[in-house]
Amino acid sequence: MDTQTLQQIALFEKCRSFTRARELEVAGLYPYFKPITKAEDTVVVIEGKERVMMGSNNYLGLTQHPKVLEAAKNALERYGSGCTGSRFLNGTIDLHELLESRLAEFVGKEACLVFSTGYQANLGLISGLVNRGEVVLIDKLDHASIVDGAKMSYGNTHRFGHGDMEQLELLLQRYRDRGTLVIVDGVYSMEGDIADVPALLKLTQKHGAALAVDDAHSIGVLGPHGDGTAAHFGVRDEVDLIVGTFSKSLASIGGFLAGSESVIHYLKHHSRPLIFTAALPPSNTAGVIAALEILQAEPERRQRLWENTRRFQEGSRSLGFEIGPTQTPIIPVLIGTLERTFVFWRQLYDAGVFTNPVVPPAVPPEECRLRVSLMATHTNDQIDFALETLGKLGKATGVI
Ligand code: PMP
Repeated sequence: MDTQTLQQIALFEKCRSFTRARELEVAGLYPYFKPITKAEDTVVVIEGKERVMMGSNNYLGLTQHPKVLEAAKNALERYGSGCTGSRFLNGTIDLHELLESRLAEFVGKEACLVFSTGYQANLGLISGLVNRGEVVLIDKLDHASIVDGAKMSYGNTHRFGHGDMEQLELLLQRYRDRGTLVIVDGVYSMEGDIADVPALLKLTQKHGAALAVDDAHSIGVLGPHGDGTAAHFGVRDEVDLIVGTFSKSLASIGGFLAGSESVIHYLKHHSRPLIFTAALPPSNTAGVIAALEILQAEPERRQRLWENTRRFQEGSRSLGFEIGPTQTPIIPVLIGTLERTFVFWRQLYDAGVFTNPVVPPAVPPEECRLRVSLMATHTNDQIDFALETLGKLGKATGVI
């Protein structure tokens, strides 16, 4: 197709006039899609330079663990490079079922279903379970995959204010006679605060609704055995459904949903994001099984993650940074306007510290931030280096 014809296509007009990202690139401030050319645990090479990775969800530092790599390599040899089909048809391997039974036991549920991503686990749960005439209630700060799952469902969706139990109760009262799912992040991915699961349970139980908790950022982080948010509050048996991802503590890609046998059985036959996509590859599945074993066998990793978290939280607060209500290894460092945040990000990056900028629409325009996330394998020296660099730049730019 020649350029002239392309320019006549109205659909593409918005693409031609989308210049914001290019302007940032020209100004040297574009922070996205930076290719990593080498990754060694907490240190990555980007644009030829080593940087301390302070923006990964690799909470337990397991992506390079020899047992994880060995399990993945063995599965690659035994089953090949991909499943080349849906779980529903030719794509299920015995490792998927082994992983499902291990996860069900780990989070204390009857059954479990493995999806190809955490994103799809939320899509699959909500769109598969909430039918026409039924209701899904979501927290205002729930992850995009929950929002998208709700959009995909034929049910009615309503949002309640972040952690606003009064508003939730009003909605539950309004839809009392309908099938209702309440779904929240266990740990909020941008703020780092923990959902008040006991309060949510009280309301869902009172009004006959189901409660699902997305433990993407809680598995390996919260709970007496790293077994998530419900376990953290001692209410594991009462939460109906637990969603999780393998792309964070479990050092791979994929997701899961755990719950009662009848719900899982129903979703195996009604969840389009499970049925109409190819299964999780063998090497990833085997890697996750190994990572889960390490997570359970080495609680000291979780302890170390929490020591690192406290070191960074205390350090950044005492430097004068605003880090909001975080209670976890996710630490949003408030910078201010969008421009200031991109400049700050770039200066930190140049000094050898990689973080993730968070800007509108994820946050209000004046509350842009750098999202820092800690790993069990960060050394004290790396954390102190990041803090020292943040402190110097914070003073120089007037953020602190
Ligand atoms: N839920 C939450 C709360 C998340 O933060 C994420 C990823 N950031 C997901 C689900 C999606 O998981 P994945 O990236 O593994 O698809």
